[in-house]
Amino acid sequence: MTEENNIIQKAEEELKKRYTRNMAVASSNLCVHCGMCIDQCHYHMATQDPKVSPVAKAEHVRRVMKKEHDWLRRILPWWVGAGELTEEGLDRWVDAAFRDCTLCQRCIVNCPMGVDTPLVMATARGVLNAVGKSPEILRELADAAISREENMEFFKEFYLEQIKSMEEELQSKVGDPKACIPVDVKGAQILYVPLSGAHTIMPEAEIFYHAGTSWTMSMFEASNYGVFLQDPVRAKRITERIVKEAERLEVEEVVVTECGHAYATSRWEAPKWFDRPWKFKVRSILEVMDEYIRLGRVRLDPSRNNGISVTYHDSCNLGRNGGLFKEPRRILQTCVKDLREMTPNRRQSICCGGGGGLVALPDYDEVRLKAGEPKARQIHATGAETVVASCDNCRHQLGQLNERYKLNVNVMGLAELMANAIVPQKKDGISSASA
Ligand code: SF4
Ligand code: SF4
Repeated sequence: MTEENNIIQKAEEELKKRYTRNMAVASSNLCVHCGMCIDQCHYHMATQDPKVSPVAKAEHVRRVMKKEHDWLRRILPWWVGAGELTEEGLDRWVDAAFRDCTLCQRCIVNCPMGVDTPLVMATARGVLNAVGKSPEILRELADAAISREENMEFFKEFYLEQIKSMEEELQSKVGDPKACIPVDVKGAQILYVPLSGAHTIMPEAEIFYHAGTSWTMSMFEASNYGVFLQDPVRAKRITERIVKEAERLEVEEVVVTECGHAYATSRWEAPKWFDRPWKFKVRSILEVMDEYIRLGRVRLDPSRNNGISVTYHDSCNLGRNGGLFKEPRRILQTCVKDLREMTPNRRQSICCGGGGGLVALPDYDEVRLKAGEPKARQIHATGAETVVASCDNCRHQLGQLNERYKLNVNVMGLAELMANAIVPQKKDGISSASA
């Protein structure tokens, strides 16, 4: 068997494995080619190129599925548009699924037939990954996360040193030498899962400090590149690290940092991969911050944010897919005086262009920044000085859109904005006031 035949055979086998009921519906003749999804996709909005419309991208996969599953193809293959799977075709899938789709789900929300184009694109990613055609960088990043657990002792010392230095910074910020960033505390209420980097630890540590939270961190970060690859083995393995830590530390809940895909994974994707129910609940830090405000556990003063005007970017995973619309807005309304909505927003929010793992793929930088143009136009139209995003991937992309399109805005996270607005309270006679 030639190498090409081998790849095709493997791809066909993977495609069969992934032919679920939902995929059968998404890849059937349900699409009536009405074209309503076309202008909903930020790639098409930015380029007006019909090749990057949802319907055209999904068609690459759909025609192969039709060959296998549409009964009409037995007599009229040309009628149903059935096509063979070839290696050249698979290479076109790479562009369609990994470069030209962020799996943002805006097209499905706007399809009158409910065609799940992102599911078709995700299936293509999974097939490509199974035959070694997924982006190598995503595979390396996923493997690095797995190897962190396998070599935990090696990383631990360096990690604890970093936490120590952040803890000193926290103590000086809140004016309390007892303030701490706890690691490995058994019986804490919350296991907080950040990303790598102090920017997803410091603001939250400050908020937890002021709210008097019982919390801990462990050694692992929230990102899951196995999900971007649609690689079930790697994705489960990466999530399993956090599940095991939550169980070992006997926490009541896992709180995921400001990260859209990590929240989606832990909240509703990953529980399906395990054959036992989790003993802890999962929430986004957004829900926790909102709860602290509603319960009066922190006092906020919007004037501490220096009267800035702010607009909020609804991350696709947190907003459209996760339904977190009210929470960030309640937080924002308490932290700033001038909140300006983008149009459209909430469920109809336009993807920033950096999702689906694209910010990690330098080969696609130009396409990604072009696809972000509609978002840049939206931000510019608000006239706001600051754009807040509650997802690290989005923040990275918005920072680059800021430079590319000369938006002249400040890009911030919601936790950072909230931490800035906290009015310090006295604790045990110690004023927690920062300078
Ligand atoms: S909106 Fe739905 S039915 Fe219409 S072309 Fe797009 S996928 Fe097909
Ligand atoms: S999921 Fe988003 S990026 Fe992908 S085709 Fe649909 S609208 Fe476009």
